[in-house]
Parts: sequence; structure tokens; C-alpha cells
Amino acid sequence: MSIRLKASDYRRIVEHARSGLPNETCGLLAGRREGDVKHVEKVYPLDNPDACPEHFSIPPGAQLEAIRDMRALGLSPLGNFHSHPSTPARPSDEDINLAYDASASYCILSLAGKEPALKCFRIERASRATAEEPVAIITY
Ligand SMILES: [Zn+2]
Repeated sequence: MSIRLKASDYRRIVEHARSGLPNETCGLLAGRREGDVKHVEKVYPLDNPDACPEHFSIPPGAQLEAIRDMRALGLSPLGNFHSHPSTPARPSDEDINLAYDASASYCILSLAGKEPALKCFRIERASRATAEEPVAIITY
């Protein structure tokens, strides 16, 4: 699978991550699957109730609201994203432990380098296998 993300949505993820510093931020991705491609049509930046530089959790109430909005728009949940303020864009041990959905995309935006770096993964929790999904950022 690969992911197509609009440049405007990518910027929202980056701005959300920067505005949450020094803590991790998170959110959800919704869109459509077409063959091997996940088209992200909408991003849902969410508050990180953990308010921590090394942990995040998706707030359940906001998640429910986002899922309702996706249904109303005819979009499917594609996965989630969170930021790594000072570590690379790789799933941490905890990220793998918390990856309950093997079909979801787990995207990580690292702010550790000069430029932000976004990488997305599928994660199989049982085997601890991760597979990177290439991300294309689309400008219209
Ligand atoms: Zn993480």
C-alpha cells in the first residue's frame, strides 16, 4: 500500500505537531482506498490527553466524533498520525505495543531534524513486524 496526502493536509499535520511542542501530538486520517493506494481526504488533528513528549493517546470522545464525521462524508478511517518531537520517524516499542489494527496506517512525523519528516507504517503487533508505506505529498 502507498499513501497520497494533499500538501495542505501535510501542512496541517506539521503545524499541529509544532503547536503541541514539546509534547507529542496526534490525529486521525480518513479517505478512500483504491487498489493499493490510500487517498487521504481529511485529517483530524486531536489533542493528546497525555500531554507528554514521549507518549500520546487518541482521546476516545474526539475519536468517536471524528468517526461520525467520516461516516457522514462517506470516508473510511485509514489510520492515525502522531509526532515525535525529538526522535526519528520510526515506531517506538510503545507504538508497536499500541498498534491494534494491522490494516491501519501508523504515520509518524518527526521534528527531530532540520525539516519535518513523515513516515507511515503498517504494524503487526504479534510479530512486531513493521512495513513502511511510501507517502506521496500531492500539490494540486
Ligand atoms: Zn511514537
